[in-house]
Amino acid sequence: MIKENLDKINASLANGVRLIAVSKTKPVEDLQEAYDAGQRLFGENKALEMRDKHAVLPEDIEWHFIGHLQTNKIKYIAAYVRMIHSIDSLYLLQAVDKEARKHDRVIDCLLQFHIATEETKFGLNMEEAEALLQSPEYAAMKNVRIVGVMGMATNTDNRDLVRREYHTLHEYRDFLAEKYFKGHDEFKEISMGMTHDYDIAMEEGSTLVRIGSAIFGARDYGTPVNDV
Ligand SMILES: *Cc1c(COP(=O)(O)O)cnc(C)c1O
Repeated sequence: MIKENLDKINASLANGVRLIAVSKTKPVEDLQEAYDAGQRLFGENKALEMRDKHAVLPEDIEWHFIGHLQTNKIKYIAAYVRMIHSIDSLYLLQAVDKEARKHDRVIDCLLQFHIATEETKFGLNMEEAEALLQSPEYAAMKNVRIVGVMGMATNTDNRDLVRREYHTLHEYRDFLAEKYFKGHDEFKEISMGMTHDYDIAMEEGSTLVRIGSAIFGARDYGTPVNDV
């Protein structure tokens, strides 16, 4: 089933859009099956779960961290994580920079924006993002590289609202690219789109879609995962 699901999704991807298989809560056997079908980008939202899966799965997997990240857990992923999508404070970015330095690495990061109308979602607003980008602390960082933006739309059937939120995120990316990343072509990513709205996200310019249940099936949150 996983291979069929991946084939179907890959066939529906717009040009230049990369698929992150969101494998949170799923057993390594499922990830291996996706890997054997050719999938290389995987997304997890818990540091310890990512660590455990990374330890037993092939080395050429690109690990994307997509969840809320606590600073004391960065150490479990800093040696290998390919991209952290959820930078929502200068403090967190500083902590990632520090852990990356210990491994002599540069970790790609996305600024997570609060684009949803819901109160509960994490993320920066533009004022906070600009304060971060203008700070001397950010200017001094050598082991992180900001390569774009990420956002989660409101969890709703209102597709117009979702479209507006994704449209806004695209505008944020363009605004920041122009103002802070001139000559830094790597600042181009827009991580947006999940199982139920990635079609809209792609129409609004997504470069990275994060898809879980359409690949692996519904998640069972009744099963405990490692670090909740
Ligand atoms: C779980 C999760 C996804 C994937 O959700 P699906 O609806 O299963 O595709 C995408 N992004 C983030 C941040 C997630 O936590």
